[in-house]
Amino acid sequence: MDSQAINKAAQLIHASRHAVALTGAGHSTPSGVPDFRGTGTGLWSRIDPMTVASLEVFLQYPRAFFDWSRPLMRLMIDAQPNAAHLALAELEQLGKLKAVITQNIDNLHQRAGSRRVLELHGHWQESTCIQCGRVVSSASYLDNWLETGAIPHCDCGGVLKPNVILFGEMLPPAVLAAAQAEAMACDLMLVIGSSLEVMPAAMLPGVALQNGARLIILNRDPTHFDEYAAVVMHEDLVETLPAIVVALKEIM
Ligand code: ZN
Repeated sequence: MDSQAINKAAQLIHASRHAVALTGAGHSTPSGVPDFRGTGTGLWSRIDPMTVASLEVFLQYPRAFFDWSRPLMRLMIDAQPNAAHLALAELEQLGKLKAVITQNIDNLHQRAGSRRVLELHGHWQESTCIQCGRVVSSASYLDNWLETGAIPHCDCGGVLKPNVILFGEMLPPAVLAAAQAEAMACDLMLVIGSSLEVMPAAMLPGVALQNGARLIILNRDPTHFDEYAAVVMHEDLVETLPAIVVALKEIM
């Protein structure tokens, strides 16, 4: 590992007043949650998610969505937070991280102990009836759906749609506004496991930079923000991020 970059990142976090993290699929792939929006591997590359995970398809043919997402849900339930999730939660506990803005829907940040998590693409914890708008806990149908494949329905007969943001669906306005406010307020943004290609994640580091923040980018592949970042590491983020937190605690 690049110890110079580790130490520089630790110093930037130490000196920051308001650091936030922006995380993407790459943060959870080491936990076994596939990047289902990306080109993916194996199971996930055979079906274009646009054809099953769009709002339009869901409203007409919910079975396509539920059948496609069933194995994904199994993986998300079995997944455990990895060392990078735990390191982010520790940063928050140390008072050095104000928020995690995430593109992930797997709940792993919360399970690792992060408290302020802004989920740009929603979450699976709750579902909403597409007919009457009633909101229920997804736990009420999860076991039965995973076991039998039965599509979940509300008491009114309407299909229950998990509160994840499908393609063609608006992002949750309050979450988006909070994420933008964090990007404007922060003086340091850690971009972790995101290739910064999907909006609005692709825009938030630019907002941070325009407001004078520094960037730390930890991602396997290069991003188009690399050249503007104070620290860029393309090594394994489950190693780099915990190492940065260790280095930070040494200088705190
Ligand atoms: Zn209903």
